[in-house]
Amino acid sequence: MIRPGPLARRWVLWGLLCLLVGLLLAALVFLAREYEDGLALTRQEDSASHIVADVRNGLVRNVQDLVALHNTHPEVDDWGGVASRLLVSEREIVHLEWRDNWYSVRAARVSPYQPDLFSQRLRHDASADVRQACATALRNNTAGYAPSYFWPMANGLGIELMEMCLPVTRDGQADGFLVATYSLAGLLTEMVPAAARRGQRIAWTEADGTRLTIVGDVPVGTEVVHVTQLFDLPGAAFLLRLERPREVRGWFTDVLTVAVAALAVALLGVLGLFARDLGRRQRAETGLAEALAFRKAMEDSLVTGLRARDMEGRITYVNPAFCQMVGLTPEQLLGAGVPAPYWPPELVDEYRQRLAVRLAGRLLPREGFETEFVRSDGTRFPVLIIEAPLIDAQGVQTGWMSAILDLSEQRRSEELSRASQERLQATARLAMAGEMASLISHELNQPLAAIASYASGSLNLLQAPQGRAEDVALALRRIAEQAERAGKVIKSVADLVRRREGAREAVAVASLFEAIAPLMQLQGRKLGISVEVEVASDSPPVWCDRTMVEQVLLNLARNGMQAMPAGDPTSASGLRRLRLGARPVPAREHEPAPHWVEFFVADHGHGVSAEQASRLFTPFFTTKPEGMGLGLNLCRTVVEQHGGALRFEPNRPRGTVFWFTLPVAAGL
Ligand code: ADP
Repeated sequence: MIRPGPLARRWVLWGLLCLLVGLLLAALVFLAREYEDGLALTRQEDSASHIVADVRNGLVRNVQDLVALHNTHPEVDDWGGVASRLLVSEREIVHLEWRDNWYSVRAARVSPYQPDLFSQRLRHDASADVRQACATALRNNTAGYAPSYFWPMANGLGIELMEMCLPVTRDGQADGFLVATYSLAGLLTEMVPAAARRGQRIAWTEADGTRLTIVGDVPVGTEVVHVTQLFDLPGAAFLLRLERPREVRGWFTDVLTVAVAALAVALLGVLGLFARDLGRRQRAETGLAEALAFRKAMEDSLVTGLRARDMEGRITYVNPAFCQMVGLTPEQLLGAGVPAPYWPPELVDEYRQRLAVRLAGRLLPREGFETEFVRSDGTRFPVLIIEAPLIDAQGVQTGWMSAILDLSEQRRSEELSRASQERLQATARLAMAGEMASLISHELNQPLAAIASYASGSLNLLQAPQGRAEDVALALRRIAEQAERAGKVIKSVADLVRRREGAREAVAVASLFEAIAPLMQLQGRKLGISVEVEVASDSPPVWCDRTMVEQVLLNLARNGMQAMPAGDPTSASGLRRLRLGARPVPAREHEPAPHWVEFFVADHGHGVSAEQASRLFTPFFTTKPEGMGLGLNLCRTVVEQHGGALRFEPNRPRGTVFWFTLPVAAGL
C-alpha cells in the first residue's frame, strides 16, 4: 500500500479544513436566513392572532349592543329606528331582524350600505341557516352562528354572509331571537384597524383551503408568505389566512448575512495568512531537518566523544562515539547526574570538586585536561576533555559541551615507542661497543703500521755499518710520536663513541696539515704519489678536536691514495698527485667575517661509481680486500659533531674530491 507523504497528507488536511469552514459558513448563512424567516413568520402569526382577537372582540361587542338594543326598545315600532342606527354604526352587519320564538320575522332592517341585498334572492332563502344558528344558540345558551354561505347580488357579484342568532328574553321568558347577518369581508374591514391590514391580504377560508372572501391586496407577481389561524365560533369555524409579500432581502440587506459574510472573508484571510505562515514554517522545518540530519551524520561519524551537560551537571546529550567509549547506552547515560556512571569510584570526590569548579563558571583551559574514565566492563582508560560553555539562542548559558578524546591508543603507542626506544638504545650501546672496538682497531692500524715501519727502519740502520746514531734516534722519536698518537686515537675514539664533547680548541688550519704531513709523506712515498698541501693564507683558526680532525684528514688522504694504486692510469698521465688544503667559506653579505672553513682532499683515482655513491657512508661498506668500511662513516660523524658537513664530488679530469667544513673559532 502506498502511504501518502507528509506533504500530500498536509494538503488533504488543508482541503478538509477549507471544506469544513465553507460548510460551516454556508450553514451559518442558511441558519441566519432561516432565523430571519422564522422571525418574520412569528411576526405574521402574531398579527394574524391579533386580527382574530379583534374580530372576536368585535363580535362580542356586537352581541352586547344587540342585548342592549333589545332591552331598551322592546316594542316593534321603536325597534326599527334603533336597529337602523345600529346598522349605520356597525357596518359589518348587513341585515338585522327580530324573530319570535317560532322564527317568524317581527321586524327587520337592511344595512344602508347594502340596500340591494335582497335584489337577487329573497331573505327566505337563508332561513335554513338562520334556524341552524338559532339551534346552536339555544343549545349553548349564547349567541350562535351558522357556517357562511354565498349570497348572490346584482351584476353577477355576490357576498359571503354568516348568520348570527341571539336568543333574547323578556321578564325571564324567551322573547324570540335577534338575527344579525354578517358580511365576512365586513368583519375584517370594520373590526380590524386599517393599520393592521395595510400591505397584506387577509382572507377567510374553509378548512379545506377554499377562499371565502379576501380583503386587501399585494402587488401581482410578488412571492407571498402566509400564515393561517383558526377562528372558531359556536356553530361555525373558519381559517384566517394572512398573506404578506416575502420580505425582499438582498445579500447585503440582511445584517446577519453581512456579518457572516464579513466573518467568512476574515476567516479566509486568516486561513490564507495561516497557510503562508505554514508554508514558511514548512520550509524552515525542511531546512532544520536537513541541518539536523547533517549534524547527526557528522556527530555519528565522529570518533571524538561528545557530551553535553546542563547547569546541574546532568547529561543531556551523548553521541555514539562517547557511548562506545564508555560502553553504555544513551538511555543509561542521558539524565545521569553526579556521580557519572563512568567515573572511577575512588575518584568520585575529586571529580565532584572539579565539576563544582567548572559549574561555578571558572575559566577552563582551552587545551583541555586529562583524566581517567572507567568503561562498563570496569577497565580504566585515559581521556582528554575539552569543554566549552553551551549557549542557547537567547545567549544564556544552559550547560557545558565537552569533546572527549580516548587517549588509550595514544598512550599505547607512546608506551610502544618508549619501549622500542629503550631497546634501540640497548642495541645501540652494544653496537657502540663493537663500533668502538672496530674503530680503535681501524685507527690504530696507521700508527702501528708507522711504528712497525720506523722500527724496521731503525733495525736496518742499526745493522748497516754506516748507520748513524742520529737517524736511529729520529726513527725512535717518530716511533714514540706514533705511540703517543695511538694513545690519543684510543682516547678520542672512546670520547666519540661516548658522544662526549671532545677537547675542542681553536686550532690554526695550517698546524693541522703540519701534524699529519710526515705520515702522509711516508704513505705517498710508498705509493709514488706526490702530496700537495694548499692552505689559504686568510684561513682563520677553526674550533675543533684537533686529533679527530687530523684523523679525518688522514683517513681522507689515505682513501685518496688508495684510489690511485700502482699501475693505475694515473701512473702514465702524470696525475699521481694528492691535493689537500683549506680555505675560508666567503662570508655572506651581512656577516662581518666568514663562519666556516672548508677543507678538501682531491685525488685522481678511480672515482666513485653511482652505485657506490649511495652506500659510501654506510658502516662496513668497503671495496677493499683489507678495508673495514668504517673510515668515511667516522669522518662524517666527526665533522657533523663539529657542526659541519661532509660531501664529495667527482674531480677533473678524474678522481674524487671530498669536502668538509669546520666552524671558525669564535672571538678570534
Ligand atoms: P675502507 O677505506 O676501509 O674501505 P672507507 O669508509 O674509508 O673504508 O671507504 C669506503 C669505501 O669508499 C672504500 O672501500 C672505497 O671503495 C670508497 N672510497 C673511499 N674514498 C674513496 C676515494 N677517494 N676514491 C674512490 N673511492 C673511495
